[in-house]
Amino acid sequence: MDAKIKEIVSLIKDSNKVVVLTGAGISTESGIPDFRSPETGLWEKIDPMEALSTAVLMNRPEKFYKQGFQLLLGMTDAKPNLTHEILSKMQDDGYISTIVTQNIDNLHQKAGSKNVLEVHGHIRDGYCIKCGKKMPIDHMNEKIKKKEIPPRCEGCNGVVRPSVVMFGDALPPCFDQAWKEVEKCDLLMVMGTSLEVAPVSHLAQISKKIVIINIGKTAYDKKAEVIVNHKASEVLNKIYKELKGRN
Ligand code: NAD
Repeated sequence: MDAKIKEIVSLIKDSNKVVVLTGAGISTESGIPDFRSPETGLWEKIDPMEALSTAVLMNRPEKFYKQGFQLLLGMTDAKPNLTHEILSKMQDDGYISTIVTQNIDNLHQKAGSKNVLEVHGHIRDGYCIKCGKKMPIDHMNEKIKKKEIPPRCEGCNGVVRPSVVMFGDALPPCFDQAWKEVEKCDLLMVMGTSLEVAPVSHLAQISKKIVIINIGKTAYDKKAEVIVNHKASEVLNKIYKELKGRN
């Protein structure tokens, strides 16, 4: 693995702009299951494409708020792990610019990262589908506990839904920004994602160069300059030490 770490470090040092693309795999070490890891992934228990779909939210709100919404709530107390912390330091040190994340768990922000594009939304709040007014996720949960399902907007009585991109939704405008950032970058560092979910996976396609740090295989392994199939935190820790000349 050490030779690969050195290769990644020289790619970072040779780049003017490095963008990082993260997925659910970087948060498994914070206790949040991903979708596709064998045995522990959420697909083993439920079908997230159903539980977290706009069709279920609109047509069967009881099911949505008892199942899909509970998955989201389960992420609210999670703490950032070493991967989030090092990525934040790497941003501060200027080694990486933007973090594009598919994660909705808010852990990059909790670790202090600033330039984060949450292309699948986030669990901090929800919004009214009629007037757009926001409601913190805890407040939504209080209403659900009081059997107000779906929770209603206190301004216009519209349905309040989570600010998370669900199956059936369009991506938010920050995805266009992510696309531009990746087009401009010299290197995309992909971490903890199977790259199975489109259109985010296309970012790996349009990037000049990619490196992949992921336990399992990804859909873009053939395109990568370097692949490290190992735990993200351990790999990133080695990369950071090498960058800082501490090895
Ligand atoms: P995925 O489940 O398809 O893939 C995760 C990948 O991470 C797997 O290939 C797995 O081998 C790898 N992995 C697991 N633990 C790892 C570790 N410690 N170090 C390195 N690699 C590790 O996830 P995805 O590609 O992000 O797509 C799933 C979709 O569901 C995304 O939209 C994602 O936002 C969403 N999701 C988010 C969360 C979260 O916010 N934490 C959790 C579950 C799902």
